[in-house]
Amino acid sequence: MDLYKVLNINNKNVSQDEIEKAYKHLIRKYHPSLNPGDKLAEEKYKNIRLAFEVLSNPELRKKYDNNENLKLEIPLDEDFSTSKDDFVNISNINVSDTNESISKINNDINHYIDVDFYEAFFGTHKELQIEIPKKCLYCLNPNTNEIEIDKKDNCKICKGMGYFKSVEKIKFYIPPGVDNGYLIKICKNNENNWLCNVNIFIRFIPNEFFERKGKNIYIEIPITIIEAILGGIIDIPTPEGIYEMRIPEGTDTGSVFKIAGKGFSQLKKNTRGDLYVKVKIITPKNVDEQGKNLLLKFSQMFPYDPREKIRNISSNKVKQSSI
Ligand SMILES: [Zn+2]
Repeated sequence: MDLYKVLNINNKNVSQDEIEKAYKHLIRKYHPSLNPGDKLAEEKYKNIRLAFEVLSNPELRKKYDNNENLKLEIPLDEDFSTSKDDFVNISNINVSDTNESISKINNDINHYIDVDFYEAFFGTHKELQIEIPKKCLYCLNPNTNEIEIDKKDNCKICKGMGYFKSVEKIKFYIPPGVDNGYLIKICKNNENNWLCNVNIFIRFIPNEFFERKGKNIYIEIPITIIEAILGGIIDIPTPEGIYEMRIPEGTDTGSVFKIAGKGFSQLKKNTRGDLYVKVKIITPKNVDEQGKNLLLKFSQMFPYDPREKIRNISSNKVKQSSI
């Protein structure tokens, strides 16, 4: 899968703005709410999102253009210390109407954020609006967290509470490889003037096609009887695009093949999990007389007994029948 083509872009030198424009145009067209039940549109929608995740991020885009492995190395601890620019201050001030004393506000605020399969695979930028108690810089001494008595009574911002609740827009990065329950902690500091830390827990939303078990991915791929007998190259959809996998002659249904290094990135490690492909033989339906005769001829030419080993495991030798 060529991510540029997914966005209908023919020239790889386009600007970030043009990528965003192409994405916005397509994502509207293929949005599931506009194409209910249309599997093809749904697949396109997913691919468009995926393409945008990669190409809208200059660093990932560069790696993609250079055919590099899309694993990003992000030291977690550093990455989660959000910079001042990441905050958009006071969009809404709510003065607390409880009599909660300022000394009691030291528990962390817990939040959840949903992360889908592709977001967890490639990493993503997220944004949340959370109501957070902030120091009142008018009447609270920022160093001691003590209310300054002389200012307390005429503070119109916090009504003498020493803090107020503010809806803060928090932007943060989720690195590739996160899983359910993973915690992103954004700490109070002198710049944000929060009175508590914010814990954001990842809620991983499973994908219907790719099954995730930790760092590994599992998929089931249908193959024909002919492919099973003759072997050959099969296109395997992976989160990063199509992977051509060779299956050997005489492959049984249920056989599992490992594609190494195509699973999830592992946090804080420069390694990745694997992708496991389980093949499932799909039997052709509605075979006509001519086809059946060919198969009969084939079975006479190449007789084999797949149940040879289990022929004598029954203790009772009396034959029963479902016919
Ligand atoms: Zn105040």
